[in-house]
Amino acid sequence: TGLRLGTPLPADLAVSFEFFPPKTEKMEQTLWQAVHKLAPLQPEFVSVTYGAGGSTRERTHATVCRLQKETGLRAAAHLTCVGATRDEIDAIARTYWDSGIRHIVALRGDPPTGVGTAYEPYPGGYAYAADLVEGLKRVADFEISVAAYPESHPQATSPQHDLDNLKRKIDAGATRAISQFFFDSEAYLRFVERAAAAGITVPIVPGILPITNFTRAIEFSASCGASIPAWMAELFSGLDSDPDTRHLVAATVAVEQCRQLHAEGVKNFHFYTLNRAELTVGICHMLGVRPKQPAEATAG
Ligand code: FAD
Repeated sequence: TGLRLGTPLPADLAVSFEFFPPKTEKMEQTLWQAVHKLAPLQPEFVSVTYGAGGSTRERTHATVCRLQKETGLRAAAHLTCVGATRDEIDAIARTYWDSGIRHIVALRGDPPTGVGTAYEPYPGGYAYAADLVEGLKRVADFEISVAAYPESHPQATSPQHDLDNLKRKIDAGATRAISQFFFDSEAYLRFVERAAAAGITVPIVPGILPITNFTRAIEFSASCGASIPAWMAELFSGLDSDPDTRHLVAATVAVEQCRQLHAEGVKNFHFYTLNRAELTVGICHMLGVRPKQPAEATAG
């Protein structure tokens, strides 16, 4: 079953790309090089993350607006509850709406002191992502995406509690969930099944992380509710000082993961690009997602 090398590539895939706002001029150049390579793939949308504690507020805003204006792609802004009152968040949202941005990825965020420390709602702020979704919908009729955790959010008291929380976010007005990255496709598929059984009918788009730096991925995964299976450690072992081979392995793993998911009926993929194009372009190419001619792009 599923796609094999040599079988016709599917024409029904939709992709989206996530970027982070650049800190320096050099990082800005890297981002825009990536954007120019990825834009012709005509993603369904592109999104820009929001730094801890609102630290990238202006940069996120500038990047989202420039993306939408210069590429014509639909750009989404990530927004979190951290470090701001409801009025302040509402004002940021209104500015987005006035700038023509219609899609927000609404998140709780993590404490500015670090992912591992206890989360305390900001006084006068939105406490959790579900509250933020409700607030944003009061500001304007945004399209809203939220986060989902196939292996549960690390602070969730139980998987059921976490699923109930996702349902609250959907009931508050979100129309798409984007998953935390994962490498255990079975865990994602089971999660989607449980979500459907709980009455969640919106798409839960898998978040695909092509791994460029395995050591950093291990550090990060521990704190964000994604496990690294032993087989991955085995695949990357011995490659710490061999980035070329690491990239080949990373692309192969991601393509295989997407093919497995597609065979199970998944048609949308969200790529955590880390502002680099090479891996994502390669993976998309293998999946049959190719640059579209302007006429095709506008017709679709
Ligand atoms: P929530 O959905 O609010 O849930 C957080 C935790 O609180 C869960 O364990 C939930 O079960 C629990 N909970 C919810 N409501 C209640 C309640 N009323 N009482 C008690 N417990 C409750 N972070 C950033 O800082 N910037 C970004 O741009 C960003 N982008 C992301 C994009 C994606 C696709 C994903 C998956 C994550 C992203 N994150 C980002 C990380 C995210 O902010 C963290 O994972 C954060 O810890 C949880 O955010 P959330 O929106 O899932 O929170």
